[in-house]
Amino acid sequence: MRCPFCGNVDTQVKDSRPAEDHVAIRRRRFCPACGGRFTTYERVQLRDLVVIKSNGRREDFDRDKLERSIRIALQKRPVEPERMDQMISGIVRRLESMGETDIPSKVIGEIVMESLARIDTVAYVRFASVYKNFQAADDFDKFVSELRPNLPPQE
Ligand SMILES: [Zn+2]
Repeated sequence: MRCPFCGNVDTQVKDSRPAEDHVAIRRRRFCPACGGRFTTYERVQLRDLVVIKSNGRREDFDRDKLERSIRIALQKRPVEPERMDQMISGIVRRLESMGETDIPSKVIGEIVMESLARIDTVAYVRFASVYKNFQAADDFDKFVSELRPNLPPQE
């Protein structure tokens, strides 16, 4: 696994343990080149999901993108990182168990809203208010960048 700080590919696993109720393995890693420490999660990839945008374009489902948008919505909210990870895994599991590999982006947005509504109302409102524009634009990157200005600056 390549070090995210210096790019060195020869990093070491210091510790592995089950996470998220045993659906993931959490590994703490160490980079001997720069001393950087980072954590990775290993998960079963049940299937390769494809997102269908409203303009018909197809795009591989990207868990990181999903996580980024949810992280932004939850910024400075009293929700523990583990809870957020569980929520994201739950969303992905739902998507993977829908019986289709092709999933409309609209469906993903709705599942995210539903999940956020259950754990944090403020985050839900943040996500939902931007999601209305997102449906028109239907572009996840644009969506994430539009979400950002509504939030207080990062510390
Ligand atoms: Zn490094």
